Amino acid sequence: MRKKIVAGNWKMNMDYQEGISLFSEVANMVKDEVIGNQLVIVCSPFIHLHSIASLAKDNNNVFVGAQNIHQEEAGAYTGEISAKQARSTGAEYVILGHSERRAYFGESDELLAKKVNGALAHGLSPIFCIGETKEERESGQFFEVIKSQLEKGVFHLSASDFSKVVLAYEPVWAIGTGLTASPEQAQEVHAFIRKEIAAKYGAAVADDTSILYGGSCNPKNAPDLFSQTDIDGGLIGGASLKSRDFTDIVKVFN
Ligand code: PEP
Repeated sequence: MRKKIVAGNWKMNMDYQEGISLFSEVANMVKDEVIGNQLVIVCSPFIHLHSIASLAKDNNNVFVGAQNIHQEEAGAYTGEISAKQARSTGAEYVILGHSERRAYFGESDELLAKKVNGALAHGLSPIFCIGETKEERESGQFFEVIKSQLEKGVFHLSASDFSKVVLAYEPVWAIGTGLTASPEQAQEVHAFIRKEIAAKYGAAVADDTSILYGGSCNPKNAPDLFSQTDIDGGLIGGASLKSRDFTDIVKVFN
């Protein structure tokens, strides 16, 4: 049965001390609230990873993820962090393909495919983000855009590697804007994504793949979004910075 996942993306927020207290609050609040096949993942800045992964060790439901890695194994890349380094902190996931990295740091599909390979080679599961811009939605091109992001970013993987990937549909126009895709709009795209996975890897793999929705998700809209057949949880930006909001979203599955 595919996992129900609520993942927080803190982005470039929280100093070291603030991050440790937020994580501790979240971990405590969700300890007894997580159902059998549910995971909570917190993707923090690199500075927090080792400490929060240590705090998460005794908690079977809460996991830690990075927000980026460099595509190379090691070397003269000042300021960068490799997959192996991120994994050595205790992190088990990494967000790749986020629209902010695609837009502000020029990350191409080809580069992202390399990062996906690097992550998997070092035991990190990618939370791979795909989604269309406002213009692409309005011109009706969004299915093609999403199909191409899947084909170039993750469909080169073997079925066994692909089974370690979590997908996140994040319409760019909904991220941090307060605009949310309606449950119907999101479900339409999630069903499309699952159909594409089935065509590539077969129905069983498609059925096992967790596909998260991201884009201004909050405790109010999460119940309707998460009740859709093909929405398996959320990737949460702004609302993951408040322990109460984030844990209220986690509790939607109870
Ligand atoms: C995100 O950045 O992945 C995201 C979904 O942000 P927000 O929830 O703030 O829209």
